[in-house]
Amino acid sequence: MTQRSCRACGGWHDVDEPWPEACYGHFRINHNRSDLAAPTIIKDGIDAVQSQLTGKWYESKSSLRTEYKAHNVIELGNEAPKATPDVSNVKVTKDEIGRAYQKVKQGYKPAVHNEAVSLSGNGVEWH
Ligand SMILES: [Zn+2]
Repeated sequence: MTQRSCRACGGWHDVDEPWPEACYGHFRINHNRSDLAAPTIIKDGIDAVQSQLTGKWYESKSSLRTEYKAHNVIELGNEAPKATPDVSNVKVTKDEIGRAYQKVKQGYKPAVHNEAVSLSGNGVEWH
């Protein structure tokens, strides 16, 4: 039997058993924080970074983001992953299949781009 010290209650819990619900706070503690009380400081300064947009070098996050904003570019990296839409409940009727078949038969070719199909509600919208 292996036990682990609990940061929430201060006791010990068996790791082979489900972690007690009352002690879930154990996992919410930021492990990078010091035990000493001090504010977290997020500085504007960074090591020199080259903009992939213009090739200019920046040592300030805010000036780099100003460039992004001026060029209408979105910075990626820290966004939370989005759940993919659940398509398991999308019902396609025989009628819709028939209409789609007729469109293709008549020469229709859908435009190819990333958002060719978007799901809204229960139906499928074609753009
Ligand atoms: Zn505990």
